[in-house]
Amino acid sequence: MISHQPGLLEIRGLHTEIPARGRIVRPARGLDLTLYRNECLGVAGESGCGKTMLLLSIIRLLPRRAAITAGSIIFEEKDLVGLSASEMRAVRGRRIAMAFQEPMTALNPVLSIGSQVMESIRLHRRLTRHHAKRRAVELLADLRIPDPERRLDQYPHELSGGMRQRVMLATSIASKPSIILADEPTSSLDVTVQAQIIRLLSALQKQYQISLVFVSHDLALLSQLCHRIAIMYLGRIVEVGTAEEIVTHPRHPYTRALLECIPPLPGERPTRDTAEAKGKLFREVAGELPGPADAIPGCQFHPRCPIAIDRCGIDNPSLHRPTQTHQVACLLAS
Ligand code: SF4
Repeated sequence: MISHQPGLLEIRGLHTEIPARGRIVRPARGLDLTLYRNECLGVAGESGCGKTMLLLSIIRLLPRRAAITAGSIIFEEKDLVGLSASEMRAVRGRRIAMAFQEPMTALNPVLSIGSQVMESIRLHRRLTRHHAKRRAVELLADLRIPDPERRLDQYPHELSGGMRQRVMLATSIASKPSIILADEPTSSLDVTVQAQIIRLLSALQKQYQISLVFVSHDLALLSQLCHRIAIMYLGRIVEVGTAEEIVTHPRHPYTRALLECIPPLPGERPTRDTAEAKGKLFREVAGELPGPADAIPGCQFHPRCPIAIDRCGIDNPSLHRPTQTHQVACLLAS
């Protein structure tokens, strides 16, 4: 069982702050999360809840002026928060890699695919050009890229979106990292290609024994790919459990609301047979997500929570563990 293993990455009490126009934006507000070895961990939540900033905090690629103001990120017995810039460069890309949402922002348009994949390989391993080229061909083949030798001479604009995404994943795994942080890497692809990339990621995660953090607003997609799912709301994890626990026995009202937003599959009947259910209910959680600079007393979800009681406006619940694999931060969840 995953929860008996020591964590590969342990985030405790993480606070990240960004000064913006006289206010302090807080994308992480005391966030706790553990990633285990060889697992795929999904992180779900609405846009603006801090998912991308969580990944950028881990890899210390925060925007200018942003800072981690409290907490720790323990990886391989080191606290990444305290590493110098040069120590962090040795971790970033080599031990922890990032796969971005839009491959064109990660790939250099004026360099051939071969140069970019070989550069990633040689950045982290001392190989001759000949051996690096051979490894690049193997990597592209692992990524199910047809005719990999010919692809080495092509440029990113000559490839389809799905192929570019595969090349970017090849550059991410080139150094055999322990962890890949994937920020909605399939959101810009059409549904068929998205499904291919998800299957590929799942196979690569096992083949290369990588731990994967996969961020998405799409709970249905995460439930297919991930061993566990963490639900993030306003800079904190409010529920985490196995994919099955989260989908079939959600304990936090926010998780339940997110699940209600999953559109029914074609031919499937909506769970609530009302005009509202067929429209808005399946697309957004009721109420507005507060701004990341807003200070909310008590439980951060209480202004939107359908079952809030008076105490919810005063006490901010911490994660507690109703079962060995399930954690939830709600005063009323048992
Ligand atoms: Fe809702 Fe209260 Fe639970 Fe927060 S603590 S999720 S407001 S019931």
